[in-house]
Amino acid sequence: MTVEYPQLQLYIAGEWVDGGTGQTAPVIAPATEEILGHVPLATAADLDRALAAAATGFPLWRDTPIVRRTAILRAAAELLTRRADRVARVMTLEQGKPFGEARGEVLRVADALRWDAEDARRHYGRIIPSEPGTVLSVRHEPIGPVAAFTPWNFPAGSPMRKIAAALSAGCSIVIKASEETAGTAVELVRCFAEAGVPEGVLNLVFGEPAEVSAHLIASPVIRLVAFTGSVPVGKLLAVRAGREMKPTLMELGGHAPVIVAADADPVAAAKRAAFAKFVNAGQVCTSPSRFLVHHSVFDAFTDTFVAAAEAVVVGDGLHEGVTMGPLANERRLKAMDEFVGDAIARGATVRTGGHRLDRPGYFFAPTVLTEVPLDAKIMVDEPFGPLAPIVPFTDLDEALAIANSLPYGLAAYGFTNSAATAERLVTGFEAGILSINHCGGSVHEAPSGGVKESGHGKEGGPEGLEAYLVTKRVSHKLA
Ligand code: NAD
Repeated sequence: MTVEYPQLQLYIAGEWVDGGTGQTAPVIAPATEEILGHVPLATAADLDRALAAAATGFPLWRDTPIVRRTAILRAAAELLTRRADRVARVMTLEQGKPFGEARGEVLRVADALRWDAEDARRHYGRIIPSEPGTVLSVRHEPIGPVAAFTPWNFPAGSPMRKIAAALSAGCSIVIKASEETAGTAVELVRCFAEAGVPEGVLNLVFGEPAEVSAHLIASPVIRLVAFTGSVPVGKLLAVRAGREMKPTLMELGGHAPVIVAADADPVAAAKRAAFAKFVNAGQVCTSPSRFLVHHSVFDAFTDTFVAAAEAVVVGDGLHEGVTMGPLANERRLKAMDEFVGDAIARGATVRTGGHRLDRPGYFFAPTVLTEVPLDAKIMVDEPFGPLAPIVPFTDLDEALAIANSLPYGLAAYGFTNSAATAERLVTGFEAGILSINHCGGSVHEAPSGGVKESGHGKEGGPEGLEAYLVTKRVSHKLA
């Protein structure tokens, strides 16, 4: 399959430009370790131009009639839909996920953009009964220019969720997408530019992440800081934003527990959970990652899970039939070795996988571990990779206590055939996203977001626009 990798540039004030100093970073194909291109790194002067553009673009976009704004955003969604194959190939090249997964992601984000654009038209304020002669109303207005930072695991999904919500709400945005998946971000922004988003409304930068975020967050132009990524970086950015009294939207990591109750169908549960585990090679913030299985169904669940892991076809995501690509970068490969090494040192058994594949590229075998102690690193830190530790339990309350014992609170999954047990799980899990009897992915009609250290604020659903709006109370005496 031939793939044209895009020219990587910054998009500032309606122009595609190279970074001021000419400094770049290489983008590496995880399936081959070859260099795909070079991403320009923004200087402070580039960032200042992006900020000035967002400051000018904001009132222009806010005051554009909403019907016109929606039409432009829908046109961008149509362009993206038409280019789905090309954008998906770029994504697979630079991130590694199988082409089918990448294509599905592109089509879903185009639909998410349509959904947000339409939802903004119905995001009504309200009139509150008041004294005669006084109109008391509540209005929602766009918060202002947004600074957004997105990671490499969903190269289209993460940036689009922020761009779609910001632009639908009437905000301008400066987004620093991941330097490691810059090509997909460039393709997305091209669609908006060609659809007629006015200059300055959407600005795309790349650079040294810590420098870019410090610079943008400190600027008085920025009114909201939106981030998707790890908990430690999220905390760092939230502290910086707090110093400036700026609100934040934080979509951070998770370590999703899966509880398989005694009355669940262990074979069906294992098949569904294993499928979800190896999507995007486990590099998903909601990936099922701690499997707590009632001892009475433990063997049936584990045997089925191991068989499903061994049936995963690992390879270059551009090749037909591949169901799991490489890890996205070398850091994840090293992290997998550490998780597995630590678990083995503490007495775990590797039921399948547990090692890097002997070929070029960042490939790691789908891995199942049993006899894993609860204090092993894999049971405590987010694995963000194709590792499945399976642990037996006896008592449901004990399983829930283990599930809730970490500071994360993003996704949680339960398998049971009892309505009463399902309700115990639904009320007992400390998590923002719950699925019972499956490990479903997110849909844009419903909000996604975590509790505890997994973050705050929602993306998707009518709630998805809230972070991008401010509420104004207006009391108007008519005479
Ligand atoms: P990392 O924590 O250094 O980076 C995560 C993301 O944050 C990257 O896109 C990076 O460019 C960005 N980033 C880092 N420092 C930043 C800063 N000071 N300002 C702005 N952006 C910054 O680690 P990594 O190796 O890229 O990813 C590893 C871990 O990150 C994973 O183990 C996982 O826990 C987490 N992660 C979570 C998500 C998610 O969807 N919640 C996505 C990617 C990574």
